[in-house]
Amino acid sequence: THFGFQSVPLGEKQGRVNEVFRSVASRYDLMNDLMSAGLHRVWKDALVSTLRPPRDRPFRHLDVAGGTGDVAFRILDESGPQTRVTVLDINGEMLKVGAERAGHRYEGRIDFVEANAEELPLESGTYDAYTIAFGIRNVPRIDAALREAHRVLKPGGRFLCLEFSKVDVPLLDRIYDAYSFNVIPRLGGMVTGDAESYQYLVESIRRFPPPAAFARMIEEAGFRRVTHRSLTAGVVAMHSGWKI
Ligand code: SAM
Repeated sequence: THFGFQSVPLGEKQGRVNEVFRSVASRYDLMNDLMSAGLHRVWKDALVSTLRPPRDRPFRHLDVAGGTGDVAFRILDESGPQTRVTVLDINGEMLKVGAERAGHRYEGRIDFVEANAEELPLESGTYDAYTIAFGIRNVPRIDAALREAHRVLKPGGRFLCLEFSKVDVPLLDRIYDAYSFNVIPRLGGMVTGDAESYQYLVESIRRFPPPAAFARMIEEAGFRRVTHRSLTAGVVAMHSGWKI
């Protein structure tokens, strides 16, 4: 396709991504707070309040690229006792941190699955909702991941995605660029000893398709009523779609 991210050999791309998250897993949560100045919490809260998981009936939720569990914990905290969340990630190190953080708090309501978003080891038509936060840009075959999202959802199920986007306010876009290309790799290097991984993450944000193009990809996977909105001046985009 015309998006640059497809030019890297796909197998190699996933290998690089796995290396990045293995290397940062233990410091991942700290880095999120430092680099986004705590804003990632606001974006995740916005995702969960858009989803509005029910308090009074069964709800099966799948959080893909769920990492250390942030989105899953929020959904469990904001919904009722009949909610079950599956946290799925390709990286066992990230999931291990997530399971440790969960402790016994959500016993019987959460499970962790190590798998690839492109090939979910899950039955078709079983989930009420699917979320992916800051994960889709790391997946080599985005179209495959979106088709899998559509497959595992029940009819009437909802897809929600958070991903870094492009700042759409003049001047602020320059500041943001300077911040991401200079500050983030250095800060990442200082805290995790791995500046290169953070350099890679910043570049992967640049290569991700703009919101309207990504919305079309979601439609092509079969979703309907696809919408998107920008958060924090376009730093993040939230996409929504429904399986009809
Ligand atoms: N959703 C979490 C959050 O917002 O804090 C974690 C986001 S983290 C930036 C990206 C995650 O995507 C990592 O945990 C990584 O292992 C996972 N990931 C990358 N490629 C994946 C794939 N093909 N399938 C599933 N997960 C993947």
